[in-house]
Amino acid sequence: MDAAFNQAFFPSTFNELFSVWNRFPDAVLYAGGTDLLWKQGKNILQLPRIILCLDKLEELHRITRTEHYLEIGSMSKLSRIIHLGKIVPEALTLCLENIAGIQLRNLATIGGNICSNFRMLDASAPLTALDAQYELRNAHTSRWVSAFRFHGADEEAAIGSQELLTRIRLPLHQWDYCAFKKFYPEDIYSSKALVFLANVQKNILSDIRVVYKADAIYRNKNGDSILTGKYLPLSRKTADDYVDNWKEYMFHINEIDKFSKNELINCIEFNVYNLTE
Ligand SMILES: Cc1cc2nc3c(=O)[nH]c(=O)nc-3n(C[C@H](O)[C@H](O)[C@H](O)COP(=O)(O)OP(=O)(O)OC[C@H]3O[C@@H](n4cnc5c(N)ncnc54)[C@H](O)[C@@H]3O)c2cc1C
Repeated sequence: MDAAFNQAFFPSTFNELFSVWNRFPDAVLYAGGTDLLWKQGKNILQLPRIILCLDKLEELHRITRTEHYLEIGSMSKLSRIIHLGKIVPEALTLCLENIAGIQLRNLATIGGNICSNFRMLDASAPLTALDAQYELRNAHTSRWVSAFRFHGADEEAAIGSQELLTRIRLPLHQWDYCAFKKFYPEDIYSSKALVFLANVQKNILSDIRVVYKADAIYRNKNGDSILTGKYLPLSRKTADDYVDNWKEYMFHINEIDKFSKNELINCIEFNVYNLTE
């Protein structure tokens, strides 16, 4: 049967999903619909011609925990993840709590936030900082890619045509210092965010991950290495070096305006000086 008119399909197995997708290659995946219906205020909504609704695929709603990982199905609503409580890494919870209002969080899914076509959304920041892995699946096979590569410019890690995100795998790792800061620009739809994570072992900073999300993901690994291995509390000089390194890193990034750069540097200063005497 061909689709002469608009149609919505509700597959309940992956076989069904991929067979419909094969018949209608321009079909669009529909999760919570909040991004697909973004900025539509009229009575009649405009939807893609063929919709593949993921709601009946039970596996995509599953959340499981192993000794080392939390695995979250891509159809998990943002509010459900928040309500899982302490098992969810704090950076992710803080980020999700800052996304829109409760009504939207009850509809929007983590998969939709990660896969938005229009813009880089907030969950990409904590998921990159936490070293999350994404499972991508097509009709024949599945593969794991890191959040860092997925959200970066690595084309091999980008989602392919007729491929979907099925699971997010998060290492269950406790962070001794965790901060999440969201910057609200005039255009509320292009927020920026910073995640600052640090771990301490025997009074030494053993791991540091700082990720900035604007229209792309920025991770200044040289900066992180200035702090790694340093004793706490940090000396004033080390903190100054770190801030200077970020200033230098940001100086070369033309895509970010001066105001946002200043906002970011202030926030980095605040967090790194929290680790000094
Ligand atoms: C008023 C408002 C305020 C908002 N504020 C914020 C904010 O502050 N921060 C923020 O981060 N976001 C914000 N958003 C965006 C919101 O978080 C996203 O719309 C939402 O997360 C998308 O999830 P969804 O399930 O509704 O996705 P959908 O709209 O269903 O899908 C989004 C896109 O992802 C694709 N997709 C969905 N699931 C999958 C999958 N499993 N595999 C592959 N592709 C998939 C769809 O085809 C579509 O292209 C806001 C949105 C609104 C309307």
